[in-house]
Amino acid sequence: LEPKEEFEHSSLAVDVMRPRRSDPALAVLTQEGMTVGEVETLVESTHYSGFPVVVSQESQRLVGFVLRRDLLISIGQNHILICVSHFNVNPQLPSDNAPEAPPPLRLRGIMDLSPFTVTDHTPMDITVDIFRKLGLRQCLVTHNGRLLGIITKKDILKHMAQIANRDPDSILFN
Ligand code: ATP
Repeated sequence: LEPKEEFEHSSLAVDVMRPRRSDPALAVLTQEGMTVGEVETLVESTHYSGFPVVVSQESQRLVGFVLRRDLLISIGQNHILICVSHFNVNPQLPSDNAPEAPPPLRLRGIMDLSPFTVTDHTPMDITVDIFRKLGLRQCLVTHNGRLLGIITKKDILKHMAQIANRDPDSILFN
């Protein structure tokens, strides 16, 4: 296969990443200020295996990545802590005490602080190579340092299958 042909076939990270234009926005957590309830709502209203963590919704600067299963464990532990602290409440205190503010969920302990990222213009053959070599399950896509999207292993497999349908001699499928 000529190198030129190979180049013609290669797509970019931006062609494979999610969300697509018509999809709902990327589901992200913010580094600070999200309550356990808010995180729980996000986790329960989606089925994604993980969530990028950003500095703020406005900046979309990537801080890390948390797996859904670790979030669920953390939320569970938080509920236990809340139950224990309610149980220990001093009965002598006046009952009209202001209710405590909902506790923020601590992400530090469960967050991957250096998730793998590529830029939107990274050719997919390079991205596929990195997935294979590092055994990645997902990688994040950025543009000028702002988080843009996510590519999972399954997204790549689907993309390869699409290319193979279009062109059985595709380099990516070999
Ligand atoms: P499956 O759950 O079917 O095994 P998968 O292995 O691709 O799929 P998921 O994390 O569930 O893993 O992702 C499902 C789809 O949603 C993928 O196309 C992925 O790119 C996209 N996705 C993953 N995480 C997020 C997120 N936090 N926000 C928006 N889309 C996401």
